[in-house]
Amino acid sequence: MIYLKTPDEIKKMKRSCQIIGDMLRMLEEKIYIGMTTRELDRLAYDYITAHGAKPNFLGYHGFPGTICVSIDEQVVHGFPSERRIKEGEIVSIDTGCVLDGYHADAARSFIVGNTTPEKKRLVEVTKECFFKGVEAIRIGAALGDVGHAIQTHAESNGFSVVRDMIGHGIGRSLHEDPPVPNYGKKGVGVRIRQGMTLAIEPMINMGDYKVIIDGWDCYTADYKPSAHYENTVAITENGVEILTL
Ligand code: MG
Repeated sequence: MIYLKTPDEIKKMKRSCQIIGDMLRMLEEKIYIGMTTRELDRLAYDYITAHGAKPNFLGYHGFPGTICVSIDEQVVHGFPSERRIKEGEIVSIDTGCVLDGYHADAARSFIVGNTTPEKKRLVEVTKECFFKGVEAIRIGAALGDVGHAIQTHAESNGFSVVRDMIGHGIGRSLHEDPPVPNYGKKGVGVRIRQGMTLAIEPMINMGDYKVIIDGWDCYTADYKPSAHYENTVAITENGVEILTL
């Protein structure tokens, strides 16, 4: 069941989404080499609660943090821990909050200090993939158009698209219909309608698309790095609005 949102509901979503967009910018400024991922988690928790919202990842199916923090070959769902961030690592942070009953969800990949050109490029292309997907959004277009645009950009840069995890609708729940794959065929899938609110979140691998999922653990099968970029978007009469930027 796809819940289309009224303009008033989208206005409410903008408030939770703005907190997450601003918070990710704050984390990008505060992250440093040698910091533990638990310290990042604490900053996120404090920011969200200070703004009157509630972390929506914390306790979700028992998840122990405000942020998922996944490093290099970890794709998503990493637990905050005493692990210290090293120079050159890809640190992917996925997080969200709920305010007035409406959810926000977004992710960024950061690199602290110097890294290899390939890792830098992976992070850049992953972000570009999100925007290629957004460019394909039009009322009446298919979700397959969005996935196709993301997949084409990733693969034309020599990277691959994770298949086992995908984007999703979002609103009164963190995960709603429809599923939003980051791969697909033009013209195939659910039609995009006004009032849809979607979390579009390419997860792009440097090597093979295959991942290993073992409980919460999710890492690339070839141990090569992965990057993640996500925003919550709304389809309105004005087109697509990116709510978590
Ligand atoms: Mg998501």
